[in-house]
Order: sequence, then C-alpha cells, then structure tokens
Amino acid sequence: MSLIIQKFGGDALGDKGKGRQSDEADLSGASLHVEKFRHVAEIARATQEKGHQVVVVVSAMGDTTNRLLRMANALSPTPPARELDMLMSTGEQQSIALLAIAIEALGGRSMSFTGPQVGIRTDSVFGKSRIQEIACDALKKAIDDGFIPIVAGFQGLTEEGEITTLGRGGSDITAVALAAALDAKMCEFYKDVDGIFTTDPRVCRGARKIDRISYDEMLELASLGAGVLHSRSVEFAKNYNIPLHVRSFLHDGEGTYVIPEEPAMEDIVVSGVAFNRDEAKITFQGVPDRPGIAAEIFHEIGSAGIIVDMIVQSSAYDGSNDVSFTVGKSDFQRAVDLAQKMNEDLGARKIVTDESICKVSAVGVGMRSHSNVASKMFKALAEAGINIQMISTSEIKISVVIAENELDRAVQTIHEAFAEDREFATMEEKTS
Ligand code: ASP
Ligand code: MG
Repeated sequence: MSLIIQKFGGDALGDKGKGRQSDEADLSGASLHVEKFRHVAEIARATQEKGHQVVVVVSAMGDTTNRLLRMANALSPTPPARELDMLMSTGEQQSIALLAIAIEALGGRSMSFTGPQVGIRTDSVFGKSRIQEIACDALKKAIDDGFIPIVAGFQGLTEEGEITTLGRGGSDITAVALAAALDAKMCEFYKDVDGIFTTDPRVCRGARKIDRISYDEMLELASLGAGVLHSRSVEFAKNYNIPLHVRSFLHDGEGTYVIPEEPAMEDIVVSGVAFNRDEAKITFQGVPDRPGIAAEIFHEIGSAGIIVDMIVQSSAYDGSNDVSFTVGKSDFQRAVDLAQKMNEDLGARKIVTDESICKVSAVGVGMRSHSNVASKMFKALAEAGINIQMISTSEIKISVVIAENELDRAVQTIHEAFAEDREFATMEEKTS
C-alpha cells in the first residue's frame, strides 16, 4: 500500500475558497470552518478509500497565526521568542483536533498529533528552527492500525523540550520532511489555485497551468516571488527525491507535479516567467577601481541585516567603476542612508537611487541546452520598447531589472516570446 502525505494550508481550513460566504457575520462564526473541515476530511477519506495510506499535515486556520502575532505585539513590542513559538504553535493544534473530529464524524478513524508527539526534533532557534530528526514510531503505528494521522505543521521540539516553530509558512516543510521520513510515494499540497502557472494569470492572460516542473525550476520560481510552496520544502523534496503534487482543494483535477528533472523537460526552454515588484536600486557612480571596494560596500550593507538581491559592476573605465545593487523596498531607505555615509570613505562620484524598478525573470532547465535564449528575450523586450537596466543570469534563469510601470507588459512580452516552444513541447507530450 502506498503512503500519501496531504498538506492543507490555512486557506483550506479558513476564510478563503470553497464555501466562501458574503455574509460577514458568518465568516467570523464557526459554520464556515465546519464546512471546510468537513470538505478536507472528505478528501482524506476518499484517498484512503482508493487504497492509500494517508497522513495529513495542516496549518492554522485562515488568518489565525497573524491574529495571534497581532495579540502578542499589542502586549509588547518585543515579545520573547520562546513565548511567540509557544503561542503560534497553538494555531496548528486547533486544526489537527478539528480535522480528526471531522474524519471520525464521517465514519473514518483518525488521530491528531502535535509536532512534539510525532517526535519532530529541531534545533533551538525560535521562530525559524530547522528539523534535525523525526522519530515517526507513533505515526507508523497509527498508520499501520488504519488511522489517518493528522499532524500539526510548522512545529517541533528541541532536545531540551522547548516548542519551536519552523518560520512562517513552515507547514510545507513539515509535510515534505514527513514524506521523506516515512518514505511516502507522494506529497500533495492542496491550494486555492489549480497548480503552478507559467506566470501570474492576473498579469498575463496567456498564463497556463504547468503539468510537470523540475525542483530546480520550482526553486527559482519560488524564490522569485511566484511562491506557491515554501522554498525550503522544495529543497527538502529535491534532496530526498520526493515527488510533489500542487493541486486544488476545490476540485479533483490534476495540478502540477514537481519532480526530478527528466530529459523531455529540456524541450521547454522557458517554463515560467516570474517577477518581483519588491525591488529598489542603488548605484555608486565612479568608485575607484581598486581591490576591497566591493567587499567594503557589501560588508556594510550585510552587517545592517539588509539582503542584497542583484549586484552589477561595470568594467573599469578611467580608473573607476559603477556598482549597482538592488534591495527589497522595505530596506531601501536604510540602504540609501548607509550608502551616503559610506560614500565619504569610498569617494564615489555620486549615488543614484531608483525605487520604481522591478525584476522579471525567465526560468527553464531548457536553457542548459538551448543557445540564444537571452538574445530572444532581450529582442522581445527591445521590440516592445522596454529598457533593460540590469541583467543577471544563472544556469536556468535570466533576470532583468526594468522600470516598475513596465512590469505587466514585460511579463506578457517574454511569456509570448517563448509560448510557441511550450505549446510544441506539450503537444509532443500528449501525442507520444
Ligand atoms: N501557520 C503558520 C503560518 O501562517 C505556518 C503555515 O501556515 O505554514 O506561517
Ligand atoms: Mg499560514
């Protein structure tokens, strides 16, 4: 019998998606939650009835975790990290018990487990702990006895017996870690979307669902802001070769499989176009061309806890360089202040800043075996009259920084430019 891990997020149990009601009063009441838990219970039961063993991992209902955090922050601007984890872990604990009750009410057999009860051991970094080990004995016994175990996502226990959480969105990690520990056949993620899309359908009408995508592509898309899955969960899946299936909890259809790379995937040159509006740019113009300058700049920025995304340095001319980099918009002002302070030592000609930029990226494992991908992308942008301010590439990704108000058009243009390859590859897949 094959084991399937099913993960349901806050949307599946809270106030979004199926059963959404316009009546505000009802939203705050229990009736909606009841309907949603029943629905999730039915999915788990139906999977078991098809002959699978099932373990369910759940998040907290809807907005619960945020609500708990708001309460803590209302009491203190700096709540102790230990107490925050104690507090946040309660959201998931409500969900597991309610779902187990729902499954039992449908005539199934179910049992809820907290992270500590499962034996999920983590390091002791509150708020962003990492899983070190999963014991699994209790879980295995429950599975063998025919139960559907319901496990609280996002939480674990340190060696010293302290409750920890894995970082926001961490239930995805719990699900994949359990899939690895229990040697599951598949880890399913139930979402309020049909799967992973070639780009955001709200920005580009031509966006369509991807049938199969590699871990590496998924990681690039996730880190680029197209995040449907927590990127650490995808890394985990890649390391342990766990197939993932991102699908809708609203209907039965197949979603997107995230799986090890296979040769046919290279036929699709660009499998997705991702974008990130949360970027701002700072340029040092005319810094002296000598060893240590870049080290100095990025040491200062990094020490301030600011995460730098893209860095571009021009080649030296007349003994000086231009150094540009991008940061998240929320760090922009701090980064500008630092840059201005640093500039006295650096002796740059001037500092230029731009908060109205964004990043658009084309991602695809097919780039490894196809030349001219960059030129095709740049030509399409040129024909659309879109100016490229910065470029960076990796093995399977080409990113450009452009003006923020051109984002939609750039995404559509790039998506369109590579659409033919995608159509061709899908057709071949379907006829073979
Ligand atoms: N409830 C936690 C959060 O909102 C974990 C999760 O949803 O995956 O971050
Ligand atoms: Mg959540």
